[in-house]
Amino acid sequence: MQVFSERDPNSNVVTRSQIDSHNFNQETLSQIAESSIVPPDDSYKIITTTELESPEHEELLNQDVCLICFEAYSDSHDNLVELPCAHKFHYKCFIKTGRANGHRNDVERPNMKCCTCQLSLIQYHQYLVDYNLDHKQVEFVNK
Ligand SMILES: [Zn+2]
Ligand SMILES: [Zn+2]
Repeated sequence: MQVFSERDPNSNVVTRSQIDSHNFNQETLSQIAESSIVPPDDSYKIITTTELESPEHEELLNQDVCLICFEAYSDSHDNLVELPCAHKFHYKCFIKTGRANGHRNDVERPNMKCCTCQLSLIQYHQYLVDYNLDHKQVEFVNK
């Protein structure tokens, strides 16, 4: 029987349902969480303050607020973190949620997930590792 969320080995598309239905080794996930205060760096990218002021990101400055501190991006000069799901936060705020809450080795730590859609960044990272995918090539579909 063909499962809808099954991986096509030639495709760079990764969907949320593929990650959700993937059989993870829980011990591996805990080890990743334990080894880092920030999520694995293939699971997010940084938009620098300089890029933030470029025309390409103009809409961020004019409309969007950080959903952790509720400040408009234009009020601060912090870099932003952009997650695979395209949700963005101040880098500073995003990292702080991991320090303030819970234990170091907790996979459920707030900064190991997207605060908006709850995508698990550790699972995302491990999924790419399990399928030997290059994060620069991956197109993530959040459904
Ligand atoms: Zn913020
Ligand atoms: Zn998200």
